[in-house]
Amino acid sequence: MAKGTVEIDTARCKGCELCVVACPTDVLALSQTFNSKGYYYAQMAKPDECIGCAGCGYVCPDACITVYKQK
Ligand code: SF4
Ligand code: SF4
Repeated sequence: MAKGTVEIDTARCKGCELCVVACPTDVLALSQTFNSKGYYYAQMAKPDECIGCAGCGYVCPDACITVYKQK
């Protein structure tokens, strides 16, 4: 199965959780700590589960997520 990983611009993330909800394999979760803007930010809670589908990248309103697909 294809695997992927994502890079999240945590400083720009507003913690809207759209990406968390969009992920089919529950990879993403909000952080326990704030970023510099005072928001909880998205991060990879279960990185091994990422399939590189790019769904999170599409839904992020601020384009904070870059998706990389791995062979
Ligand atoms: S690329 Fe797909 S599987 Fe990976 S974190 Fe984003 S939504 Fe989840
Ligand atoms: S969709 Fe974008 S702004 Fe919203 S929590 Fe995810 S990374 Fe942050």
